[in-house]
Amino acid sequence: SGADELTFRDPERADALRARLESLVDRADDSIRIVHVCGTHEQTIAEFGLRSILPDGLTVAMGPGCPVCVTDSAEVDEAVTLAESGKLVATYGDMLDVPGGDRSLAAVRDAGGDVEVVYSAADAVSLAAETDQEVVFFGVGFETTAAPTASVLRNDPPANFSVLSAHKYVPPAMDVVAAHPNTRVDGFLAAGNAATITGTEVFEPIAGTHDLPVVVGGFEPLDVLYALVELVEAIADDEPAVVNAYPRCVSATGNQAAQTALWDVFERVEGEWRGIAAVPDATLAIRPEYAAYDARERFDIEVDRDSETTECICGDIMAGHAAPRECPLFGEECTPASPVGACMVSDEGPCRIRQTFGEVR
Ligand code: SF4
Repeated sequence: SGADELTFRDPERADALRARLESLVDRADDSIRIVHVCGTHEQTIAEFGLRSILPDGLTVAMGPGCPVCVTDSAEVDEAVTLAESGKLVATYGDMLDVPGGDRSLAAVRDAGGDVEVVYSAADAVSLAAETDQEVVFFGVGFETTAAPTASVLRNDPPANFSVLSAHKYVPPAMDVVAAHPNTRVDGFLAAGNAATITGTEVFEPIAGTHDLPVVVGGFEPLDVLYALVELVEAIADDEPAVVNAYPRCVSATGNQAAQTALWDVFERVEGEWRGIAAVPDATLAIRPEYAAYDARERFDIEVDRDSETTECICGDIMAGHAAPRECPLFGEECTPASPVGACMVSDEGPCRIRQTFGEVR
């Protein structure tokens, strides 16, 4: 509501949090580098210019928080191959312009292929119910979209419906980023939306293994500033704990019904996160019990898995150690109207966000 927005955007409270951040950063021995893992956090940070008010010595960088950006080129190629072979491919609008090894789904659609934009897996099921054509839902996204995909598969969708899963699971990717030799992480700001499903406890092993705090934060400007205060305080006090800074939406154990659906349908397997690495246990594959709805089981999909060669550094950005302005193509050859890489395509992509709201710091 409007009242809630005012509460979470109150400038006086923002000033107080900023002052608190400054004194905590002063108290820390060293500069501090926070990595967040959510495109929605990046949108809030950019839209409200939060980087411009951070004290010197505190950096907030984006990590692997854009599901469209980490969808592998070969996964896009699989969807392209299905659309080119007469299936109707339904997916989120953000996926259409993401380049595969050779072409995007938008290019296939322009050439006459059946590619439809949907807002949910359930919308794709509705499409399948209205046609005899094979309808493949190209499912991308983290826990927040994987759980609804799982739900539709548990509710007897039509026989002509299947899922090409490119869903990803965030916590193992945080492990990879924390251990990455080029990425410095002093603490993670974790995504409050995914945590509504998984709860905060899922981050305990990350905090323990890497000896750093993980703070779950919400998405209003004050939510982000408050989560940063909690993070910097934990770093200054050398307390690598998991903190729930978004308790109005997130619990320790999360949404049990959504987790039951998620893990009934999906299992965690190693998969490529575009430009980052093959991440163990971080890609969600459909379990054999649901093979009838698994597009990879149902159709013969042959793609070249080593087809990507561009100057795009989107993978380095997703790994948390590069920024869009470091890309020589940013704003020149690569723009929202003519994207070279996935980070410029999605509303959650850091390059597109920086182009939209400007480079603040
Ligand atoms: Fe890739 Fe474009 Fe971003 Fe450069 S500006 S990293 S080419 S998406």
